[in-house]
Amino acid sequence: MPNLDPRLRLDVLGAGPAYTDRPGAVGAAYLVRHGSTALVLDLGQGAFTRLAGTIEPSTLDAILVSHLHPDHFVDLVAMRHYLRWEFRPHRHLRVIGPAGLEQRLDALHGEPGFCAAVLDIEPLTAGSLVVGDALVEAARIHHTEDSYAFRVSRPGGGTGLVYSGDCGRAEDLDALIQPGDTLLSEVSFGPGPADPDAAHLDGPAVGRLAARTSAGQVLLTHLLMGHDDDATIDSVRVHFDGPVTLVAPGDEYGIGG
Ligand SMILES: [Zn+2]
Ligand SMILES: [Zn+2]
Repeated sequence: MPNLDPRLRLDVLGAGPAYTDRPGAVGAAYLVRHGSTALVLDLGQGAFTRLAGTIEPSTLDAILVSHLHPDHFVDLVAMRHYLRWEFRPHRHLRVIGPAGLEQRLDALHGEPGFCAAVLDIEPLTAGSLVVGDALVEAARIHHTEDSYAFRVSRPGGGTGLVYSGDCGRAEDLDALIQPGDTLLSEVSFGPGPADPDAAHLDGPAVGRLAARTSAGQVLLTHLLMGHDDDATIDSVRVHFDGPVTLVAPGDEYGIGG
């Protein structure tokens, strides 16, 4: 049955950081759908299984990778095997990520051409691209040397979803966020303070970002172990008076309208 909901739909497949003791945690992965368009932002550890339990993975329009830390892309190995071995003939999938992604995955498997068999990898650069019936804007942010945040919206405009990826300087996200947007932001260091050498955010930085950009709501993710959920949410609310939620795998949200 076609999805006639005019809003974007976000399914949180995974919201984890690189490691955690949180039961059931899955690496970063967010399924965004609009009509018949479906794309995934990042595919961290354990995310393939959740993806396959939510949608037929081979029907995705694209997977976008924010940066080359494995907690954001390592389940592309599972995706590659699935597309290569589950179907006769095998199926291809569009993947958009920073330069070097293909070489990383080939090296991990020790097999030149491992990716190219089924993953059609395109280099990610700052700017706009069209994925199915969705518009994606990518912006360079401070984290690794080649890290990106994304804004996903419907072609006709309206509010969208901004995903921070991993981000060490909240100001880098300002230009991407439009009033009313849903801000899906990393909050690695919880209530703070963030380690200045770690290139991640804390709650007060996210709260101030949401307030000055007039975000519609804040969804928090990528919380490192050892930080309290409620204290993290409260540290955002000190600065931002809109809705604030800490997301978990299985959560669903409607965005825009
Ligand atoms: Zn990460
Ligand atoms: Zn990272």
